[in-house]
Amino acid sequence: MNSEEILQQVAKETRVCTKCELQYSRKNAVPGEGPTNAEILFIGEGPGFHENEQGRPFVGAAGKFLEELLANIGMSREQVFITNVVKCRPPGNRDPKPEEVSACTSNYLERQIQAINPKVIVTLGRFSMGYFLPNVKISDVHGQARQVRGRLIVPMYHPAAALHQRSLKPTIESDFSRLPEMIATAGEAPEYVEPANGKSDNPQQLSLF
Ligand code: URA
Ligand code: SF4
Repeated sequence: MNSEEILQQVAKETRVCTKCELQYSRKNAVPGEGPTNAEILFIGEGPGFHENEQGRPFVGAAGKFLEELLANIGMSREQVFITNVVKCRPPGNRDPKPEEVSACTSNYLERQIQAINPKVIVTLGRFSMGYFLPNVKISDVHGQARQVRGRLIVPMYHPAAALHQRSLKPTIESDFSRLPEMIATAGEAPEYVEPANGKSDNPQQLSLF
């Protein structure tokens, strides 16, 4: 199978997937969308109301803001791949459970990453960040590029968080504006080092970053 076929196969499987509880709250699975050769892969948390209705990622208010952020760096959503850590909507938009994240990433997200092979993965919000950078606080590491398992990861605030908390808006805008430069200097980003005992609020450990 070529990359295109892998992505199509993943999308097909998610629509009928029974590998976690979220199968029961789904109307439409949201596998994600974008070009197979996208340089940037955005990973959000999970489908919300509108995404579940339409089967497409980031089509509500957060999506509109994401499009604005992309426009600021001269890009459009058609040029990037956009997906989520879980492909089915958690009931009432609750947080995805660890076993749901684990089932969905191991079956689908990992295959998507392999197929797209992006230059950079931008995580949007805590849940996708936690998949790559466990035990850190987003307020400490947002906008900082790190190598994780041979891939460039840039954690960013979730666009919906910036809509709810206006003070985050300039932060996410500034993190976004540095994306082109981070892609250009990808090889120079330091390796991620997990904090020793998993307590992200210990300043000694934070100095590792
Ligand atoms: N928020 C997300 O995390 N993902 C979406 O697809 C939409 C909103
Ligand atoms: Fe399957 Fe992922 Fe949906 Fe769970 S969230 S049912 S693992 S596609």
